[in-house]
Amino acid sequence: MTQTLREELKNEVARRRTFAIISHPDAGKTTLTEKLLLFGGAIHTAGSVKARKAARHATSDWMEIEKQRGISVTSSVMQFEYAGKHVNILDTPGHQDFSEDTYRTLTAADSAVMLIDVAKGVEAQTIKLFQVCAKRGIPIFTFINKLDREGQNPFDLLEEIERVLGIRSVPMNWPIGMGRELCGVYDRMKKQVEVFDGSDHSTIEVKKVEDYNDPLIRQMAGDYLADQLVNECELLDVAGDPFDYEKVMQGQLTPVFFGSAVNNFGVQTFLENFLQLAPQPASRKSTEGEVEPTDEKFSGYIFKIQANMNPAHRDRLAFLRICSGKFERGMSVRHVRAGKEIKLSQPQQFLAQDREIVDTAYPGDIIGLFDPGIFRIGDSLSQGSSKVFDELPTFSPEIFSKVSVKNALKQKQYLKGLDQLTEEGMVQVFRSVGPFEDTYLGVVGQLQFDVFEYRMKNEYGVDIQLARTPFQFARWIVAEGSGKIDPTKFRINSTLVKDKNDNDVALFENEYAMRTAMERMPEVKFLETAP
Ligand code: GDP
Repeated sequence: MTQTLREELKNEVARRRTFAIISHPDAGKTTLTEKLLLFGGAIHTAGSVKARKAARHATSDWMEIEKQRGISVTSSVMQFEYAGKHVNILDTPGHQDFSEDTYRTLTAADSAVMLIDVAKGVEAQTIKLFQVCAKRGIPIFTFINKLDREGQNPFDLLEEIERVLGIRSVPMNWPIGMGRELCGVYDRMKKQVEVFDGSDHSTIEVKKVEDYNDPLIRQMAGDYLADQLVNECELLDVAGDPFDYEKVMQGQLTPVFFGSAVNNFGVQTFLENFLQLAPQPASRKSTEGEVEPTDEKFSGYIFKIQANMNPAHRDRLAFLRICSGKFERGMSVRHVRAGKEIKLSQPQQFLAQDREIVDTAYPGDIIGLFDPGIFRIGDSLSQGSSKVFDELPTFSPEIFSKVSVKNALKQKQYLKGLDQLTEEGMVQVFRSVGPFEDTYLGVVGQLQFDVFEYRMKNEYGVDIQLARTPFQFARWIVAEGSGKIDPTKFRINSTLVKDKNDNDVALFENEYAMRTAMERMPEVKFLETAP
């Protein structure tokens, strides 16, 4: 019996898991990703993900910056099958210099894995990425990595997660020793011990036990560590949060797993638990109400555009997250903003090592569409309707530079480039008000400037000059009622500018200047993003 489209969608959606790994550089994201892909059979030798990074450097010459700085600028997607589940990992750049792209990529994820270095705890970039996920209320799973190294006390780490990130946690397993003393982890849910064998990382021994009091643990770990485990687990039983699936789904409670990615220790258990607990693609908000993934009509939105991977062709790849329906190669969909039907003929899907042409795809999947210049970030594509997904948040820039063109004769190309790159969401542009028109660019990460400069030169043939300014905050200001904005009040450590839609924006050098302005002008609203 052939299944109906509705049934097919239901089955395919139920087995999809689309997530991003969020972490601070060096926590082990590449290593963990690689282990996950190995389990999924998507790659066959360790080192491939790193090798892929290197290979990309060789081919993607448009991104000279990547090569020079040894970082991955653009996020991509990796997919594999494991235990009947179809897994999509969204890769977010691991470097400190992340950009709005990173944030936007997170909107395409249904859950996140937060990777924390056992010694370093919650670090700066983890906090930023966490906050983006928390805003969307998606479930967050925590993997505390590098247990084979001396790290912080596990209780301190949990306390730090709660204090810094404001999310409660429930340890799914608990370390038996750490660093050189690491014996294994005790699985609190399955009541078993995963034994850490420092000499042989290829086989992981799992021992079934009664509970954490089991003499078997004592035999294995010795009295000192066994006593410690008993004490700590008793404390967790009494004072710790119980596992609560609903709270996990609402992003109020994070299940915590301890392990060591490089030793492949605790990774498989993590993967299996994660795939079981992590949510399948959920409904998404649109201008025509909630869109269920099992809706038969195809829909999706573009969250990222990767430009000029091949400078000879000026091709761009638009990354689309499927929200509902079944994707079929060659299908016609409505490009809502442009108001026309387009044919999706050469879509690509992403494996760990290569891209391949995709024939069908389902909600939760990400496909890459060749873009002859018709797409913008945030565009919705939809079959037989004009719904628009309202998924992409805009971010308040934190770094500002004045931009100018070096050769005045290139003014026209410069304006064209500026226009197109801001349209793409590469940078935000502001213009000063007053007799001398200055142009400011605002970004969340320095890297965006580097890429902007590079692309201006290589795509538009324009050399630009960027001068860093001391501004750190942008606030869109709106006067309430009949009030007017008094420019003289924005002089000290601040300036007034207009965004590209002519909204009033104030830039501030520091928090003090911003707070003072707010206090002085109670009738004015200060918004973090455009109204
Ligand atoms: P990323 O920057 O987050 O992608 O981090 P990488 O995966 O490149 O890892 C950073 C460093 O930490 C590398 O030298 C890894 O070998 C190391 N590393 C990753 N996982 C572990 C682990 O479990 N234990 C130890 N000791 N080192 C690890």
